[in-house]
Amino acid sequence: MENFALKKCLTCGKALTGRLDKKYCDDQCRSSYNNRSRKSHEKRILETYRKLRRNRTILKSLCPTGKATVRKEFLIEMEFDFSIFTSIFPSKGNVYYFSHEYGYMPLVEKSITEGRPIQKVLIIQRQIFMEKSFDPWKFLK
Ligand SMILES: [Zn+2]
Repeated sequence: MENFALKKCLTCGKALTGRLDKKYCDDQCRSSYNNRSRKSHEKRILETYRKLRRNRTILKSLCPTGKATVRKEFLIEMEFDFSIFTSIFPSKGNVYYFSHEYGYMPLVEKSITEGRPIQKVLIIQRQIFMEKSFDPWKFLK
C-alpha cells in the first residue's frame, strides 16, 4: 500500500483529490485565499502609513520653531519608529531622515554632567534646497 499524506485545501482544509499540485478544492476557495492574503498585504501598507503619520506628528510637536535638539529617549517614549521614513537627505557625513516635511539627524553629544555620550536627534523642517532628487549610486565606493 502506498503511504502518502493527504494534501488539504489552503482555504477550507478539505482533503484534496486529483492533481498533485492542487492547493484549493475549487475556484471559490482559490479566490478567497487570494483575497485574504491581499488584505494582509494592504494591512501592512496601512500600518506603515500610520507609523509615518505618527513619526511626522511627533517630530512636528517637538520642533515648533523649525529646529530643535531632543534626546533619543523622548522619541522612543512617544513610540517614534526610526526605521520608517519618506525620504533622506545626506548632509556633511550625516543623514536627515524625513517623515514628510519633518526630519531628524542622529547626533551624539558628550555630557559633562552625566559623563557619557548622549544620543540625540536634531529635528528640522524640510527646506526647499532639500527637494532636489536623490542619487543612491553617488554613495557607492
Ligand atoms: Zn477549499
